[in-house]
Amino acid sequence: MSASTPPLRVALLIISTTAAKDPSTDASGTVLKDTIEQEGGGRWQLVDTKIVSDVVVQIQRQIMLWADVAVPEGINLILTTGGTGFAVADNTPEAVSALLHKQAPGIVHGMLAASLSVTPFAMMSRPVAGVRNKSVIITLPGSPKGAKENLQAVLKTLHHACLQAAGQDSRSLHAGGLKKLEADAGFSPTMSGAVGWHSRSSHGGSSSSHTHAHSHSHSHGGHGHSHGHGHGHGALVRHTTPSANPMSSDPALGPSRRNRESPYPMLAVDEALGQIKEHTPAPEVVATKVSRDLPGFVLAEDVKAKANVPAFRASIVDGYAVVVPKGGNMKGVFPVVSVSHAAPGEAKELKEGQIARITTGAPLPAGATSVIMVEDTVLKTMTDDGKEEKEVEILADNVQEGENIREVGSDIKTDSLILRKGEQISAVGGEIGLLAAVGVGEVRTYRRPVVGVLSTGDEIVEHDRPGALRLGEVRDTNRVTLMAAAREWGFEVVDLGIAADQSGSLEETLRNALRQVDLIITTGGVSMGELDLLKPTIERSLGGTIHFGRVAMKPGKPTTFATVPVKNNAGERVRKVVFSLPGNPASALVTFHLFVLPSLHQMCGVAPAGLTEVPVTLAHDFGLDQRRPEYHRAVVTVGRDGLLLASSTGGQRSSKVGSLRGANALLCLPAGDAPKKKGEKVQALLMGGVRSE
Ligand code: AMP
Ligand code: MG
Repeated sequence: MSASTPPLRVALLIISTTAAKDPSTDASGTVLKDTIEQEGGGRWQLVDTKIVSDVVVQIQRQIMLWADVAVPEGINLILTTGGTGFAVADNTPEAVSALLHKQAPGIVHGMLAASLSVTPFAMMSRPVAGVRNKSVIITLPGSPKGAKENLQAVLKTLHHACLQAAGQDSRSLHAGGLKKLEADAGFSPTMSGAVGWHSRSSHGGSSSSHTHAHSHSHSHGGHGHSHGHGHGHGALVRHTTPSANPMSSDPALGPSRRNRESPYPMLAVDEALGQIKEHTPAPEVVATKVSRDLPGFVLAEDVKAKANVPAFRASIVDGYAVVVPKGGNMKGVFPVVSVSHAAPGEAKELKEGQIARITTGAPLPAGATSVIMVEDTVLKTMTDDGKEEKEVEILADNVQEGENIREVGSDIKTDSLILRKGEQISAVGGEIGLLAAVGVGEVRTYRRPVVGVLSTGDEIVEHDRPGALRLGEVRDTNRVTLMAAAREWGFEVVDLGIAADQSGSLEETLRNALRQVDLIITTGGVSMGELDLLKPTIERSLGGTIHFGRVAMKPGKPTTFATVPVKNNAGERVRKVVFSLPGNPASALVTFHLFVLPSLHQMCGVAPAGLTEVPVTLAHDFGLDQRRPEYHRAVVTVGRDGLLLASSTGGQRSSKVGSLRGANALLCLPAGDAPKKKGEKVQALLMGGVRSE
């Protein structure tokens, strides 16, 4: 086995109602992880482990997340452990076999044969194995010993199986014949024909490296290799999958052949946010000038003072610079020998017995050791023209050196840390002034993404088009709303206009937009109608990956989040983000704040990302949705007692434009039967500032 061949990706699903409640009760997970690592010959990498209860839909949902919508690299091998017996709660084989596109009875046979040689009770295990999309899936028993034995029985053959399932060219894979295949897999020659399940013999001869190197290069050419992250050869697996195996309906087949139920798993809001966090590109660092345009930027570096503040010894009062004699007694009449104003220039040196008039902020004359406030003095004599002071009497006793003086660097010293990486520059907090004061003219910041906003729908017309609407026309509400919201949050916005419900024009609009912007927001076209083309266009035409296409929430269920591979200006392959929000105006605005904003924040380094969450007290009863958590548009005010009080903006149907008015918060209402009562507390996400009642 060539050391340069990267490991294939394994995900482990622990199926146990007990372990789902208390993960510490699981023993099989660790055993399987060790087996993969110690006996897998370095060919495998465990990339994800999840625990679910013995519930068919939970099992299926997790497997579909891995096999259908997983991270760009995909998952090559999904192992489950548990739920394969005869107990009432044992559901795993049923849950898994319903998902398999191809059955693999040979793997099942291999596992059973191995187990039966250990105990006849192996008959009590009902394993299944097969392929879904490009992932090989195998159900292992729940006991640590059984799980391990079964895995050992088949592990060596699985690398080959997974490469084939991932689409690697089988001619190159099989070059060299069965003997070579066995040697590559780590079977010793005496074992061929039998499954060497308990063997821990070392694997791989020197000859194998050639075949693998060859087969990999072959597969790269064959697949049109459409990805650009630095994960090397092992990445053959998944990047072309979304377009090769999309979940969206094929628009060419028309309404009668569309999906009648969304094939996308319904994610909880937190899971959806997790996907956004995982797939939003990391922030880019750019140099930004210190100017009034700096507010909103997040620092990508610790910033140090370039110079001392103040840069010179300065008076902090209007008065007289003096040279304090021993003992500090300054009482007496002194000649005023010079004047120091707050202006550049050298003042002449001051000697004991002389004083110099000085203004606030002016540099001290050389030799001066203290400043007497004008209030502690009396004018004694004037020049002949009566315009200037000649002599001044000082009334102060016990004067200390350094009084009323700001020393060099007493505020900020050169090279001291003034702002930290990750801090956001505000427009009101004085950070810009701080940078200016210490001579910093440019800072490294995270680039702020450019947002494109597109409306879709044949019925949508410009909101300011003159004349009345024709039957069926709808004024574009979402585009202006979202452009204003994105700009209010500090992002540059590109107006992408309105696209018709035709896949060709939609594709072209999106392709152009992907060149100009970092993140696209579309609204409309994500429902289940035959003209809802966003998902198919992203998956099928743009080769994008839909990370989620349904979220358990109200409003906003069809919210869709995808990334699309594109070349940037430097010719590198990058992924850009597309949020396809529902068309209903209230849904669009809620999902913008809930999902798009955290992504934008992550791209420009703002942490924590997303809206600020605070507890609020309900000003009246709120009914709950029985099934879905609701994000309820509300007005939050601060009362005299300092408590935050929330009232509804009214009817919350997602198409209701009126319910947007005045909302500065989204209340997080859980699903439930009984209403939340007036006076109860719930969490609220603040979209805008809070004013007093
Ligand atoms: P769709 O998701 O395309 O089925 O749209 C759902 C609903 O939202 C339909 O009633 C659309 O007419 C409406 N809608 C879609 N886009 C907009 C928009 N930009 N402004 C106002 N309403 C819209
Ligand atoms: Mg539409």
